[in-house]
Amino acid sequence: MKSHRLPMTFQRWRWLWSKTSLRTLTSHSSACESADAVHYDVIVVGGGHAGAEAACASARIGSRTLLVTHKIETIGEMSCNPSFGGIGKGHLMTEVDALGGVCARICDISGIHYKVLNRSKGPAVWGLRAQIDRDLYKKNLQADVLATKNLTVVASPVEDLILGEPSDPQHQLTKQACVGVILGNGEKVYSKAVVLTTGTFLRGSINIGLTTWAAGRMGDRPSVGLAKSIENAGFTIGRLKTGTPPRLDARTVDFTKTEVKKPDDHPRPFSFINDRVSISPDEQIDCHMTHTNPEVDKIVMETMDKNRHVREEINGPRYCPSLESKVIRFKGRSHQIWLEPEGFDNELVYPAGLGCTMPEEDQLRIVRSMKGLERAVLVKPGYGVEYDYIDPRQLSTTLETLRIQNLFFAGQINGTTGYEEAAAQGILAGINAALKVQKKPSLTVDRTEGYIGVLVDDLTTLGTNEPYRMFTSRAEYRLSLRPDNADQRLTGKGYVAGCVDESRYKRMMGMYTDLDHTIDLLKSKVRPSSQWNRQFGYPEPKNDLPRSLWEMLKQGIPIQRLIDGEPKLLEHLRYNWRLAENLFNQAIYESVLVNQQAAIEEVRKDERLQLPEDIDYMSVNSLPNSSKDLLAQARPSTIAAASRIPGLTPSDIVYLLRKVKADHGKASSVKER
Ligand code: FAD
Repeated sequence: MKSHRLPMTFQRWRWLWSKTSLRTLTSHSSACESADAVHYDVIVVGGGHAGAEAACASARIGSRTLLVTHKIETIGEMSCNPSFGGIGKGHLMTEVDALGGVCARICDISGIHYKVLNRSKGPAVWGLRAQIDRDLYKKNLQADVLATKNLTVVASPVEDLILGEPSDPQHQLTKQACVGVILGNGEKVYSKAVVLTTGTFLRGSINIGLTTWAAGRMGDRPSVGLAKSIENAGFTIGRLKTGTPPRLDARTVDFTKTEVKKPDDHPRPFSFINDRVSISPDEQIDCHMTHTNPEVDKIVMETMDKNRHVREEINGPRYCPSLESKVIRFKGRSHQIWLEPEGFDNELVYPAGLGCTMPEEDQLRIVRSMKGLERAVLVKPGYGVEYDYIDPRQLSTTLETLRIQNLFFAGQINGTTGYEEAAAQGILAGINAALKVQKKPSLTVDRTEGYIGVLVDDLTTLGTNEPYRMFTSRAEYRLSLRPDNADQRLTGKGYVAGCVDESRYKRMMGMYTDLDHTIDLLKSKVRPSSQWNRQFGYPEPKNDLPRSLWEMLKQGIPIQRLIDGEPKLLEHLRYNWRLAENLFNQAIYESVLVNQQAAIEEVRKDERLQLPEDIDYMSVNSLPNSSKDLLAQARPSTIAAASRIPGLTPSDIVYLLRKVKADHGKASSVKER
């Protein structure tokens, strides 16, 4: 296990900071007056998962960037579970990576247990996930952030925003622009854009049992001044809550009484630039599983009156519910509790599924009532946190606020939950803040291009009143938004924007050139079906039509079998698992994707088309009944709004679009929003 000492870059930064502290510079009363004030292009507030991505992306684009966060040592802190990725979330990570982001690369060098979820389903919805060594992640991320060119990091609270005249008179809605921030000691720091990524800290309050105190998360002060400035600036604010389980001492858990959960034999890296993760397969650590039982339910119910967090007025994460919510909602059901190690040299176990907020002594009773945990020692109690978030409908698709120019919001502050959702917004906001400052075209991702597009579109058009998390089911075009082709979808855009470097771009281009070449090769090898079947060990075909190797692959012949059958032709695939995987996925999804692409183009052209208020969905014959019902209930106002209704497929939207156009004549004559 490598040392947890902070890297040299951090020591060096500390020295530099002591010499050039902002504290030694003069404060000024207004943005315009400042001649010798500290000026940056972009200031990012908050060093969590959104902030780290935002700051690094802005700096990569060449903007002089300042990251201001409470503490350097909490940059990249995983406030809750020691894991990254999962279904939908893993997709977001590969997209962040495709834009040159940091989290995927850092997970590849900080993981302890890698597993691809959903393997029984098609590769489009596989969920890359890893247990992460919490301390190693922070250490590696901090080293990366502190070594980033054009990026200065400062430890300080930000208490207020500095607002000034808008620089862009074209911007109709805004009367003000954000021109800097005021630090905890009253100093002003100026910039051309500000990105706020303050997570659960805005007026955060945490609680255990009936005790409540002000905190952004355990051990950290809340952000009250900044919450007031956001409110004073006129933003609509809501309140959400979340929670975290107690932590257990691994040495007191009897793992022999629990189920062992093995990692994958071949750990798969998150980042496109890595062919493998840094640890070897047998260095990985197992997870374990136990279950709740009727005794757990009994204690939860008995302690309800000692548990402030369970009140229902404030919404918590529906898809990551607390133990209390599960007991109330699913009476009598046993729930899985995953026992996840927090690191190589870490004696803590994270019992995923056991997030709870009753008094500590009752948490201990619950823990000890479960198999394998009878003698477990509780090292830290579980707790809940409530915090302010801003209604994300006040943002544009670049994550700039509609109300104040050059002010961007990203991460949990926008009502999301999860490191990956935060990272995805962070990178988008950081890129766009930097591009705006440099007066370059913005970078946006739409729903057809990526899960980042789905996330941003859902947030900015629908808003959210509960912590929003990503699922593959939220993406209508999920068959084309696969983890294995995120780079193909987004790296080119990132390169144009300047946040992807030359070597990544060339690597991506190289791979897709090889892919095209291999597809051409496979298409050029044509033989009677019977010959192929004999060669690959399949029964005689019903007809003996000539087929290409590409068509054989499209039928689902495993790629390994194909390589073994044509070793000379396909030798290069043996040494390039990424190319082999991409080739296979491209083949099996080709026909579906050709149709889907046509549908995407058709819908994209007319997504703003207004749907008549009196439309009778039951009369759209080509729609299945379930889709008719969904549309009749939701009564969307436009094609775009219809396409966001969960449960509708892209072909449903195409049928609907054709019906509306047929009823109303040409698209151009139909009203658009
Ligand atoms: P954070 O990671 O919270 O980072 C915010 C950063 O901003 C911090 O570094 C903070 O110091 C800094 N900051 C805040 N205000 C200021 C200021 N005024 N000046 C300077 N710096 C400031 N997610 C899940 O997916 N599942 C869960 O079960 C889950 N449970 C959670 C339980 C708890 C108790 C908490 C606190 C979070 C939980 N999360 C969970 C959420 C997950 O941690 C966040 O979604 C994710 O960390 C959000 O990233 P972020 O970058 O937006 O904010």
